[in-house]
Amino acid sequence: MFIIYFSINKIFEQERGKRKKGKGKRKIVGCVLRTAKTNALAKPFNRSTVRPFNQKMTDNYIELIKSFTKDDYENNVNLHIHSTFSDGGVNVNELVEQAKKKGLKYIAICDHNTLNAYLQTDLLKEEIVIPAIEFDCWFGTVFLHMLGYGVDVNNKDLQKLCAKTKRGTEADWVRIFSFKHPRTVINAIHNAGGIAVLAHPACCFTPTGLDRLVKNLVKLGLDGIEVYYPYTRHRRIVKFHSVHAVEKIGKKYNLIMTGGTDEHGSLE
Ligand SMILES: [Zn+2]
Ligand SMILES: [Zn+2]
Repeated sequence: MFIIYFSINKIFEQERGKRKKGKGKRKIVGCVLRTAKTNALAKPFNRSTVRPFNQKMTDNYIELIKSFTKDDYENNVNLHIHSTFSDGGVNVNELVEQAKKKGLKYIAICDHNTLNAYLQTDLLKEEIVIPAIEFDCWFGTVFLHMLGYGVDVNNKDLQKLCAKTKRGTEADWVRIFSFKHPRTVINAIHNAGGIAVLAHPACCFTPTGLDRLVKNLVKLGLDGIEVYYPYTRHRRIVKFHSVHAVEKIGKKYNLIMTGGTDEHGSLE
């Protein structure tokens, strides 16, 4: 398993390397969304109604995410972006500027195993930003990524799950040994007022099938699944399931369907 994983990650690294050098800069929209029409956000959202983070739940972020449609993810929402606080190539200020320039209405910067983008900058003052994080987990033999959206970034239990070193936010060989269970991660995300979303599931190597994996994660409290994701251009070599299959499973288990490009470089 480890051998397989490491060879896969070698490929990931090469792909990322290419992107960082500016060769494969991707547009915001994945190929799965190409045919969708332009539209405005499904519901207007008043940021001033978001509860402050010292309150227990950040329901309004959750309601906001629930209101996003496939078209939103194509045109004006990207809920999966990495910054230099993990293994992204662009800092948070530049990312926000690029997103605004591009006309995005909402973005989520979800660095690997760290909330430092929110704790060490003024990122949350930006109206377009939804607080987020992406954790590495092991569920039996399956290595997966769990996104947490709308979380209270000051929540101590969530912070305890974060990487203690910078390497734990970027180096794959360090991250794979973190051995966090999805139950722990999902509970921590919920306790921090957020929703837990399975990241890029078509990239999950699931010997017993994706449906079964999702079903078991739903039992642990999974809220959503990342459907709108540019699988054919990003990590295309390790696509184990079709986007259609992912969408079908999302509907079957009544999950919130999210989208983002998993950008590790520039949004431009
Ligand atoms: Zn990921
Ligand atoms: Zn990611």
